[in-house]
Amino acid sequence: PDDIAHPVAVGLEIAGDGPALPRAPGLPDTWFEHDGQITKQVVRAMTLAALAPMPGERLWDIGTGSGSIAIEWLLAYPDTQALAFEPHRERAARARRNAHRLGVDWLEVIEGSAPAVLDDAPLPDAVFIGGGLSQALLETLWQRLPAGVRLVANAVTLESEALLAHWQQQMGGELLRLELASAVPLGTRRGWQASYPIVQWRVRR
Ligand code: SAH
Repeated sequence: PDDIAHPVAVGLEIAGDGPALPRAPGLPDTWFEHDGQITKQVVRAMTLAALAPMPGERLWDIGTGSGSIAIEWLLAYPDTQALAFEPHRERAARARRNAHRLGVDWLEVIEGSAPAVLDDAPLPDAVFIGGGLSQALLETLWQRLPAGVRLVANAVTLESEALLAHWQQQMGGELLRLELASAVPLGTRRGWQASYPIVQWRVRR
């Protein structure tokens, strides 16, 4: 949509006939320009609930892709901060565009691969891993993060799922498997089209 009225910016009065940007996380994927690599609406809503932004807090969004997680973090409160890390140049540019278009142009997108790209970043209150999950990344985070930081990691592949299973056994936290299906046409009737299961680890450092 081109003509966005930000409900905060206009004091909850929606100007004109343009689409209104809802306040709750889990915006439809169509609000974001993306190349298919995006945390989808329902999983995004659950991820934001687990990240649990509070006023003034800072997020690290590792593997930001379209920027959707960091952007919804910033939409939660006007004084939150987010650092978004992304090695893929075009995606980094896309995340910046999405942030500008959705009214949170203070999103800081940093090009580079985790864990190295995290070296000079100011410490966060919460961390999301949406890409680049590895043993080295988790070890780096465990070393650098102060106690109490909230960490949420989503895995799609068996390999990253195995890593999360191992780390949850050692460190605790909650391990969830999110299995979603949506109704789609199947011949003249409808059937359930399953999404890849997402394994989500939620833990406090
Ligand atoms: N949460 C994102 C989607 C993430 S897809 C969204 O909602 O749009 C995973 C992303 O991780 C991809 O953009 C990929 O380029 C990035 N990635 C892969 N390896 C990485 C690494 N080592 N460090 C940081 N990002 C990485």
